[in-house]
Amino acid sequence: MNGNTPLVHTGSSPDGDGDYLAFSMVKRRNFLAAAAATAGGMGSGGTPAAEAPADPPVRLGGARGVTSAITDQDRVYMREAIRVMRQVGVIDRSAFPFGAIIVRDGKVIATSGNTVWKDRDPTAHAEVNAIREACRATGSIELPGAILYTSCECCPMCYAAAYFARIDKIFYAAGWRDAGFPDSNFNVYDDMTRPYPQRVLAPQQMLREEGKAVWDEFRKLPEKP
Ligand SMILES: [Zn+2]
Repeated sequence: MNGNTPLVHTGSSPDGDGDYLAFSMVKRRNFLAAAAATAGGMGSGGTPAAEAPADPPVRLGGARGVTSAITDQDRVYMREAIRVMRQVGVIDRSAFPFGAIIVRDGKVIATSGNTVWKDRDPTAHAEVNAIREACRATGSIELPGAILYTSCECCPMCYAAAYFARIDKIFYAAGWRDAGFPDSNFNVYDDMTRPYPQRVLAPQQMLREEGKAVWDEFRKLPEKP
């Protein structure tokens, strides 16, 4: 990848990806609703982010939650993610076809495919791998200003990883259902909206006081990690 083309949005017309919004916003709302305790009001809005920045539409760091026109440069980055997707899934046949890249300040700072089987790691999704690589490359656990281009719609784990890594923006190519996984793979979205006792894994609290005591102790430390 050439690296230094700035992510300047020229206001070019959307390229037919428009229906992603309605689809993904519902999922995103569901997911965030499940994490409502920390997500604030993000999950409650019914209004897709239609207010693309008008003039000039420049996407820079620190602007989460922005929906704007997709540019030719975005397509270049996404095609790199799709190239990696095809490499691992079709050419190497080492994994299901997923690829992701992370871009910041016009430079690709991480590129990865899915390595779940290779690493015997169910969390080694392309996006998580790319986030780990980007954090190692930058020496930070936060990636503000970064944009994640992923060949397929993020699963909740990858969305959350990007969220916690403070990535600004996600673009995805194929929809999750395009992958043709069994419907059971999609139940996680619904599952996470249910009260704990009704969820598949039925999280239960125990020894709360003992766990909380360590938090109390931690907060009193003069220096924290
Ligand atoms: Zn994932």
